[in-house]
Amino acid sequence: MNHEPRSRRRRAAAPVMATAIVLLFAAMAGCGDRQRPAPEAAMKDQPKTADRDSDCGWVGTGPLPVVADLDARLAAYVPTTLDPALDHLDATEQAVLAKLVEVARIMDGLFGQQATPCAQALSARIAELPADRQDSVRRYVAINKGPWDRRFHYEPFFGTWPHPAGANYYPVDLTDAEKAMISDHANGLDGLFTMVRRDEAGALKAVPYSQFFAAELQQAAALMREAAALTTNASLKAFLESRATAFLSDDYYESDMLWMDLDSTVEITVGPYETYEDGLFGYKAAFEAFVTVTDPVESQRLAKFKDELPWLEMQLPMDDRHKNPNRGSESPIRVVDEVYSAGDTRAGVQTIAFNLPNDERVREAKGSKKVLLRNVMKAKFEQILTPIAQVVVAEDQLGDLTAESFFLHTLWHEMSHGIGPGKITVDGRETEVRLELKDTYSTLEEAKADAMGEWDIFVLTRANKGYFPETIFRQQAATYLAGIFRSVRFGIGEAHGKANAIQFNYLVEKGAITSEAATGRFRIDVPVFEKAIAELVGEICTIQAEGDYAASQAFIQRYGGMPDVLAAALAKLDHIPVDIAPVFPRWDH
Ligand SMILES: [Zn+2]
Repeated sequence: MNHEPRSRRRRAAAPVMATAIVLLFAAMAGCGDRQRPAPEAAMKDQPKTADRDSDCGWVGTGPLPVVADLDARLAAYVPTTLDPALDHLDATEQAVLAKLVEVARIMDGLFGQQATPCAQALSARIAELPADRQDSVRRYVAINKGPWDRRFHYEPFFGTWPHPAGANYYPVDLTDAEKAMISDHANGLDGLFTMVRRDEAGALKAVPYSQFFAAELQQAAALMREAAALTTNASLKAFLESRATAFLSDDYYESDMLWMDLDSTVEITVGPYETYEDGLFGYKAAFEAFVTVTDPVESQRLAKFKDELPWLEMQLPMDDRHKNPNRGSESPIRVVDEVYSAGDTRAGVQTIAFNLPNDERVREAKGSKKVLLRNVMKAKFEQILTPIAQVVVAEDQLGDLTAESFFLHTLWHEMSHGIGPGKITVDGRETEVRLELKDTYSTLEEAKADAMGEWDIFVLTRANKGYFPETIFRQQAATYLAGIFRSVRFGIGEAHGKANAIQFNYLVEKGAITSEAATGRFRIDVPVFEKAIAELVGEICTIQAEGDYAASQAFIQRYGGMPDVLAAALAKLDHIPVDIAPVFPRWDH
């Protein structure tokens, strides 16, 4: 799972859009030739970069509109150089890294094919635009991995084609009967690692990724094996070899297990993972890659922090009988710098932290690994958070904003998912918070992790543990305040955004956040904040410990809304980029 919310919620309108596609096809049937070659024949006959979609007639001919505000939309993603220092790597590690970036590049191409049907044909249509429009359309297509705007419900920004909810995982002309067939799980069409296509007779069939993307995955596997042969790190060598095999067998289990054990400086997270791109069913995994280098100093500090978790559990501001110092989160946390990213994670909003693998068998056996992308966070602090603060945070508190506080908040947010109620007993019944709080669980858990993230830092400092300076209180407070606005901008329809609205409203009620009528800016009262954030942690943890669904609903109902004062503040942030568009000068070409 990726931590940063991405603008790809499931669309309630999916059936309507699918109908629109069918209508579009019906309209085109009369004007173009609609001969549908069998997919295998098409794959064999076409050069490997050509579209493997059986019918690209819908791409059509003739003039295509481009949205009038394209330049403003492009400006929402500010190009930002990510170029971590690699001097501490020896020549071998540098060579391994270069191979892994090549693999990542292949994943980018694979995801492009998964996200957008007929990408090559669409690209050819861009070449027909007036010369002065082509470059910006291409750049925005690269950000969105297609002609549909991920920020605006996948509406087309170039052309008029409706976005297929199932991306390119399924034929774009699926009928309702076929959708029912896929979702009844009886036909093997719902596989995580298959593309659904039509056979010669037009019937649906599942084509494993290893076949559909055979050429690219063979090339990726070869590069992984070359990197495995180079590296002197045993854990990396084992993972790379196993993952190479997985690319050709579609069985990722063993390599997912080995990924958990990596202890190398140079790391890669690569393969088909998340299923958000399949907006129709959420069945199909999207290719992506993170090439990273571990920060050894930060990892040391982290090890010490992890030892404090049982102590923090005992300090929680809730009834002692709810505390469980043996909760023992096995999940390792890594702090890394991103050297290159590709595929699913490169589209739209950039990931600052992720938690993988998703395979429940691996999670049972080894837990999951949380990876924090420190340089991506720093970039977002500079490019997004700081400009937001300059508009909404009281001027005399601006000097307290620090990139370190933004990082620490994210780090302790992640740690806090491992503190507090998890397995609980309700009316003598052993259960889990997640099961009892149902649809309210994610929102409440995210609000808890945010609030507890600050509380952890404060409690450790009050106990003179020596991790943070005395200035940490006002630095965390000011940076946290700006962070609320950044996160709420992603929308309160989703757990992270709603969790931030909850914190804002709660802290306003407690007098920790006040708005200055004269300037329209917001101020955070540091001592009141320290007290109120503990109260918020206590209230949420108690609801969780008691598994009280009704209380959780009532809490979210009471605090989860968008007050006018917050909406007015957000409206003043329109000119500030929504996210970064990473540039990797060493590797982009
Ligand atoms: Zn979280």
